[in-house]
Amino acid sequence: MKIQTMPDILANKIAAGEVVERPASVVKELIENSIDANSTIIKVEIEEAGLRKIKITDNGSGMESDDAERAFLRHATSKIQSENDLFHVETLGFRGEALASVAAVSQLTLKTSTGSGAGTRLTLEGGRLVNRDLADARQGTEITVEHLFFNTPARLKYMKTIHTELGHITDVINRLSLSHPDIRFELYHNDKQLFQSNGRGDLIQIIAQIYGVSVAKKMIKIEHHTLDYSITGYIAKPEVTRSSRNFISTIINGRFIRSIPLNKAVLNGYHTLLPIGRSPIVVLQIKMDPILVDVNVHPAKLEVRFSKEKELYQAIEEAIRQAFRKETLIPNAQAPKPEKIKTEQESFQFEHEKDQKMIDPTITKQLQPKVDQHPRETEPVTESSQTNEKKPIYQTSEFTEEVESVESSLEEVTDPVERVPAMYPIGQHHGTYIIAENEQGLYMIDQHAAQERIKYEYFREKIGQVDNELQELLLPLTFDFSNQEALIIEQYQEQLKEVGLFFEPFGHTTYLIRAHPNWFPNGLEEEVIRDMVEQVIKDETIDLNKLREEAAILMACKRSIKANHHLNKDDMFRLLEELRTTQDPFTCPHGRPIIVHFSSYEMEKMFKRVM
Ligand code: ADP
Ligand code: MG
Repeated sequence: MKIQTMPDILANKIAAGEVVERPASVVKELIENSIDANSTIIKVEIEEAGLRKIKITDNGSGMESDDAERAFLRHATSKIQSENDLFHVETLGFRGEALASVAAVSQLTLKTSTGSGAGTRLTLEGGRLVNRDLADARQGTEITVEHLFFNTPARLKYMKTIHTELGHITDVINRLSLSHPDIRFELYHNDKQLFQSNGRGDLIQIIAQIYGVSVAKKMIKIEHHTLDYSITGYIAKPEVTRSSRNFISTIINGRFIRSIPLNKAVLNGYHTLLPIGRSPIVVLQIKMDPILVDVNVHPAKLEVRFSKEKELYQAIEEAIRQAFRKETLIPNAQAPKPEKIKTEQESFQFEHEKDQKMIDPTITKQLQPKVDQHPRETEPVTESSQTNEKKPIYQTSEFTEEVESVESSLEEVTDPVERVPAMYPIGQHHGTYIIAENEQGLYMIDQHAAQERIKYEYFREKIGQVDNELQELLLPLTFDFSNQEALIIEQYQEQLKEVGLFFEPFGHTTYLIRAHPNWFPNGLEEEVIRDMVEQVIKDETIDLNKLREEAAILMACKRSIKANHHLNKDDMFRLLEELRTTQDPFTCPHGRPIIVHFSSYEMEKMFKRVM
């Protein structure tokens, strides 16, 4: 016989590879157990980012002595008993794997009591019970995990810096406290308190603690109920954005879930309110019958499967849209502020005396070779290009001969002004598209996209000439960061200094910035600084070129005329002429088409003047 069943200790050690990836996973599993045991206060004490010690103390139900021993057996759980229970899981755990796995790769002490009679103390080493004892009768459970991965050296070697591991732990605590505002969480690292929530059930207070008070002030409360779903929570106004999706928290029946389609539903809810490529800050608590969600698809239970997913995504979209409708945030409802117009005039002299020479042709020539046109994830195509059968003129496939001949003749010309023929405005459609014509036919131009392109090239040029000179601020900028962000800032102080950012500690997780590099765009300093920090968190480095590129896109988008803005014919003509001077007049910085062309030939065909 060659095939044998593994001894339990070995099987648990192997299983631990899936469940216990790093100290943060231990913290997550143990806290989830405390939550399932109905605790209202959970204290987490960490040493050396959890590699030396993780101690979790709760005031939950506790365990009887024999249950306490059984809890460490593989597949031992009090949470489900039959196959049918699997479709109605209301607890965070149910697989009965965590304790066995954690114990297999650490030295673990458990102290637990149900509050009646003496408590139990168990000591395990690498999953083996080495001591059994009586303990005090305080109701609740205390689990101490020491020397994690002491018997799996390869895993230990894989651990990152203390800061990174600690960052993962604070991330876990943040998510759990967003999911359970009614539980008081306390986190200590080497005896220093890093986080405490009050457990009073007020989600916005947790949001304020994690993302800062200034963000919390810009959150809108939402509430939406359908037959199957109840959606509550907070969504940030579109003016507060981040560059990563990590700020979208979706919580299904108390379980923090990471899901691309759920994020997508959130973004769809915001629709066009967000600058492209930017993400909102959102915390959604979604409640549904457990039968509608399969939680048994991922060992760490971070993913789930929904049985009525379309309905769920629609409900989320609707919940967000509804909230915005109530807030009357719809952009065209707001008249442009007077100062805004001024900046526009200052930067672009859009409204008066300037002509097509506005962008100095010498500057145009100096422009760097074309940068990546699609730096972002691909976004859904705009309605105009989806529903319109006409192809934008930059596309080469399936084209009428006429457009092809125009295109090929365009390619030979190097002077940008000649790449797009002069177009003469006829009028404006819905305050959004300029309708123009010339001998080659009819054109529809998305005015916002056109101006974005113009401004993007202008800003990219301006931002491109970077020196490291600093600009002192009269009033320092204040930043509230999350615990995790603050840790990263401390860790990457040197790199941040190199790009001109000096974060001066000012309270717990608050920092001041007293000066910043000159190239930071006016009025968008805060966004650029946030982007820098997010980039450091994501990539652990700072790529100045990427930052400048993103800053240029952001500025172009924010400063451009929106749809539903009426222009007179002179404005339109100037805009079209400016567009002709850009390097890439055919797409906006996000890669969407600017111009759609209806050739004279096509029109004749449409009206059956030619066959
Ligand atoms: P699961 O959570 O999937 O049931 P675990 O291995 O995490 O599996 O835990 C095994 C069992 O130990 C749980 O089902 C629960 O009965 C018990 N248990 C674990 N931690 C606690 C705790 N903090 N308080 C009370 N009971 C606990
Ligand atoms: Mg568990």
